[in-house]
Formats: sequence, C-alpha cells, structure tokens
Amino acid sequence: TYQNGRKNKPLDIVIVGGGLVGSLEALYLAKRGHRVRLYEYREDIRNTPTARGRSINLALSVRGRKALRGVGLEQQMVQEHGIPMVGRYIHRLDGSTYIIPYDSRTNQCIYSVGRNFLNCLLLRESEKYKNVEKHFNHKLINTNLQKGLLTFQKTQTNETVDVNADLIIGSDGAYSAVRKAMMKEPLFDYSQKYIEHGYMELCIPPGDDGEFQMPSQYLHIWPRGNFMLIALPNQDRTWTVTLFMPFAKFNEIDSDEKLLNFFGKYFSDAIPLIGKKKLMEDFFSGSALPLVSVKCRPYHVKDKALLIGDAAHAVVPFYGQGMNCGFEDCTILDELFQKHNDNLKNILDEFSATRWVDVFAISDLAMYNYVEMRDLVTRPSYLFRKTIDDFLFWLIPNLWVPLYNSVSFTNMPYSQCVKNRQFQDKYWSLYNGANNSNEALG
Ligand code: FAD
Repeated sequence: TYQNGRKNKPLDIVIVGGGLVGSLEALYLAKRGHRVRLYEYREDIRNTPTARGRSINLALSVRGRKALRGVGLEQQMVQEHGIPMVGRYIHRLDGSTYIIPYDSRTNQCIYSVGRNFLNCLLLRESEKYKNVEKHFNHKLINTNLQKGLLTFQKTQTNETVDVNADLIIGSDGAYSAVRKAMMKEPLFDYSQKYIEHGYMELCIPPGDDGEFQMPSQYLHIWPRGNFMLIALPNQDRTWTVTLFMPFAKFNEIDSDEKLLNFFGKYFSDAIPLIGKKKLMEDFFSGSALPLVSVKCRPYHVKDKALLIGDAAHAVVPFYGQGMNCGFEDCTILDELFQKHNDNLKNILDEFSATRWVDVFAISDLAMYNYVEMRDLVTRPSYLFRKTIDDFLFWLIPNLWVPLYNSVSFTNMPYSQCVKNRQFQDKYWSLYNGANNSNEALG
C-alpha cells in the first residue's frame, strides 16, 4: 500500500493558482494521498499585507461551509472568524432603515469572512501534509495540456521552470491562463460578458469607542436603482463598503465637490460613517474595477487537465456565490475521486458532463440579481412576495423553499433551486396575475 493506506499509486497533480479554490483543492487531494504541487503567481500572502483591490471580505454560505468541513476547517472559519449576517439592512434615500431577515423560520445566516484570512488558513493547513509542495512567485506562461506539460516563470528571477504532471488543475481565476490554453482545443465553448457596472471598495472605520458604527449582524444595502452601495463587517470592527455603479458614472465623478454632492444626494447617512476626508482619499486613490462573467465547457482535456473555480465559471458577485460555488467544485470532485477510485478519465468526464448545468444556473441567477438587488428590494411587490414566501416556507418547509434560502442555506443543486422557483412562480402567478418580482442576493 501507498501513503495514507492507498491501494492505487498516488497521482502527481499540479494545481495552478493558490487562491481560495486552488488552496482548498490542494487539501482535498493531499488528504487522498496524492502528490500535490501548487504554483502561485503572487508571493506567499501569509507574508504580505493585504493589497487593496478585490473584495476584502466575502459572504460564506452553506455550500462553502460544507466544503470547509470536508477538510476540517469549518468550525475554525465560521465560529472563530466569521461574522454572522442574519439579514439585509436596507438604507432608504431619506436615511430611514428597515430589515429583511434571510430566514425568519430557522434563523440561518451567512457569514462575512476575510478573503486573506481564509486563504492564509487554507495555505497554513497544507503545511500539515508532507505531500503538498507550494511554489509562490511562479507564473504559468506556457502549457501543453494534452501532454500535461507546463512552463512557469519565476517572477523574481525571470528563470523558467518546466513541470509535468498526471493532472493539471487550473484554478487560476477569472482570467485563467490554463483556460486560455484550453481555448485552442477543438469543441471548447467559451463566452464572457463584462457588465456595464464596475465596483470600488471603500471603508467605514470603527467608531471612537473602537466598535462597529452600524449593527454588525446584517449585510447593509443602499439600493438606488441603477447603482448601489453595500457593506460587510470585518473582524477589526471596520466595514468594507462596495460601490457598484456604471463606469460612465464613476468617470463623471472627477472632483471632491462632485463626489461629496453625489454621496450627499444618494448616501448621505454613509458620509459621517466613512468620514468626508477618508471618502475623498479612498475614492480618488482607487479605481473602479470591472466585473466579468465567464461560461465555458467542457472543463477538461482528456485525463490531463481540468478547470475549477473562477477559471471555469467566474460569476458576477450579486448572489454572493462565486467562492461558494468554487468550493462546491472541490466537494464534488472529491466525491468523484471516491466514486471512480482515482480513474482520472472517468472523474473528469463526469465532472464536465454534469457540473455545467448548475454552474450556468448560478451564473444566470447572479446576472439577474445584478438588476434586482440594486432596485427590487425597495419595491412593495418584492416585500409582499417575500412575506408570502416566508409564510409558506414556515407552513410547508419541505415544499416551499424560497430561492434565496435554497441557494444560500441548502446544498440543493443550483439548477434545482431555479426549477423550484419556476414551480413556485406558477402558483404565484395564479394568485397574483403576473409574477413581477424576484429575490435579491446578498
Ligand atoms: P482567485 O481567487 O481569483 O484565485 C486565482 C489565483 O490564481 C490567484 O491567487 C492568482 O494570483 C493565481 N494566478 C492567476 N494567474 C496565474 C498564472 N498565470 N500562474 C500562476 N498563478 C496564477 N464569492 C462568494 O462566494 N461570496 C461573496 O460574497 C463574494 N463577493 C465578491 C465580491 C466581489 C467584488 C468579487 C469581485 C468577487 C466576489 N466573490 C464572492 C467571488 C470570489 O471572489 C471568487 O469566486 C473566488 O475568489 C474564486 O476563487 P478562485 O480561487 O477560483 O480564483
């Protein structure tokens, strides 16, 4: 027998990208006793301060929690570091607020977690496995997927390194280099869509007493029709505030005066929380970043290469599911390794044949909620539908699970969540004449 009591020879697996999904996948494969080499473009984030840029915190929900549980990290992440958010806290234009609970029946919640903390936790955990090697400052620059060959460039010396593997896993994010190589393969379908909106992260510091300046157990939303502000709490009592807005509108705001007028008109209650000076500094020292949605398939080449996480399916962030969905990839792959007893061809074939249905479903849902979240939560029709949905969920919990709850608080396949909603809509339209509402995300 081999390491960990394995009967089969361990596979030699290279993971490209040590972000959230790649570093979790490394743990799953290491647990199975395979040899794992993880190559990451950036330096080891455990040694570097957080860079401003991509979402500082994220909403972790049931699918992500299940995947963390599989490698023994759920408790640590959720109990010790996650900040529970039990509902949406809506800020109206006139400064008044109201709360929309996520789940008034069983009080389930989502958790705000720090991206860096989670990524470091996953990398640190891999130190426990002798069969994981990590190579930071290595950028994938060339690939022969059919043969399992990769060339990396060391970013500090420009030296190149050739590597070969039984299996290449591309978890190198929305702009994946592994996926680019896959695009040269026949019958590989690919589409991408940049939305009109970009996002910029701002920050609400702790109050003078060192505490949160707003109730911390909620995801705060300032929905304003064509744009919105949201805020998620951090462990250090700050809030990461994200402004989603069309690029054209970002570009219009080119002076302190215009910025303060804009915030004064639309988010006046947020100005004292952020602080005028800090708002101006942060807004003009950053730039709005784009949001892309990527669909492709199949996710593999022969028994040699596979895409997971954002590399396979970047989604817009309006359902809070990108990472959760990528983590679910890891759970599903682990089940397939078990089911097919490490037979890579069967594992990859089945993953590609089945996963896209659910991935496309969450991608479409996220895109739809992009419109709904910044607008819909303010409408009486939405609130009415939500009340009825919650009541039916309370009355017949096995039959009537509202869409947001099935996506965020169950492991029901995403495509099934959509089918359920379509079934509910049929009944709803019988009573209502026409269905004109959907649910917001975060
Ligand atoms: P990434 O996190 O992008 O990691 C990819 C890694 O690959 C990086 O470390 C990168 O350096 C490395 N890499 C790239 N190219 C190369 C190369 N050529 N060679 C070597 N390494 C390379 N998801 C949620 O579930 N909940 C949320 O609340 C949420 N909020 C979000 C808010 C915003 C504003 C955004 C933009 C996204 C949000 N997401 C959320 C989505 C989430 O961030 C992604 O789904 C998640 O980061 C995907 O993880 P990944 O490991 O697949 O990719």
